[in-house]
Amino acid sequence: MNTDTQPLVSIIVPAYNEDAVLGEFHKTLHKALADTAVDLEIIYINDGSTDNTLDIINGLRSSDKRITLIDLSRNFGKEIALSAGLHKAAGDAVVIIDADLQDPPELIPELIKQWQNGYDVVYAKRTRRGGESLVKKVTAHFFYRIIQRVGKFSIPEDTGDFRILSRRAVNAVNAFKEQHRFMKGLFAWIGYKQKAVHYQRSPRHAGKPKMGYWRLWNFALDGITSFTIAPLKISTYIGLVTALGAFAYGIYMVIDTLLHGNPVPGYPSLIVIILVLGGVQLMAIGILGEYLGRIFNETKQRPLYFINEYLPSEQVAARQSDDA
Ligand code: UDP
Ligand code: MG
Repeated sequence: MNTDTQPLVSIIVPAYNEDAVLGEFHKTLHKALADTAVDLEIIYINDGSTDNTLDIINGLRSSDKRITLIDLSRNFGKEIALSAGLHKAAGDAVVIIDADLQDPPELIPELIKQWQNGYDVVYAKRTRRGGESLVKKVTAHFFYRIIQRVGKFSIPEDTGDFRILSRRAVNAVNAFKEQHRFMKGLFAWIGYKQKAVHYQRSPRHAGKPKMGYWRLWNFALDGITSFTIAPLKISTYIGLVTALGAFAYGIYMVIDTLLHGNPVPGYPSLIVIILVLGGVQLMAIGILGEYLGRIFNETKQRPLYFINEYLPSEQVAARQSDDA
């Protein structure tokens, strides 16, 4: 039986090679939440780090009994690490935050307040992108525009994973079984009462960003392919338009030959047509391939991750033994 008077809020922190910031992060988090009247479970997920991240988490655990450790068996990427955290989180609400202090822990009390006001998803919307390159800003902007336009629901722009989810929202996200998880999309897809809270995003406190451009590009592909089949439709229409064009040109050729004989002109137009058609076909096959590859991955129905070690916080461990 649950005799607690205060709600329990789980805070999920995925960490991949974050030993340079984790200590500072925990201190800031601790300070930011000192006056908040909720019980806490702070879940650090070690996503197969190759540095001392795990040792640091274990060190923090010995002095702070509210910490839960999930040590994944290897690096699975942030989306999967978050999924592991969401599956294991015991809280009545769950906060998701990056370890690099780009998401200010000072905002968490506000998120909790809005959750207590009855919102299921309260996401932090940034008003400024500090310390990020122009390329990243521009591509991010276009990405949101595209997905907004082609998806049948909208993903809030300038929003990361930093947010609070109510228990039923967490249960909804946990019901997704797919391998390619574009979490931001899933959070928006589930619906329920959602609200934005504004903040200024600062540059990473220390350590390096883990998402290079290649990884971001693949992330964007996942985002698009898992929420819309528009690219498939677009290639159908490009095919249709080129076929109609070819048909019209064919008729013109027949008439032209009948009227003016056949002096065999047209090497340039021929080569242009061949190249354009070849290019369009390869691209369309590529788009098919992206979807096919994802279907392939989904049909294997592999488990999403493996956990090397799960050490619940003191309070959560007590609850679990009550339930058993
Ligand atoms: N992260 C992770 N696994 C990975 C890559 C990143 O758990 O494979 C974590 C990382 O430790 C950080 C968060 O995801 O807490 C965001 O990573 P990063 O700062 O590199 O991404 P960005 O801020 O550029 O979106
Ligand atoms: Mg970051």
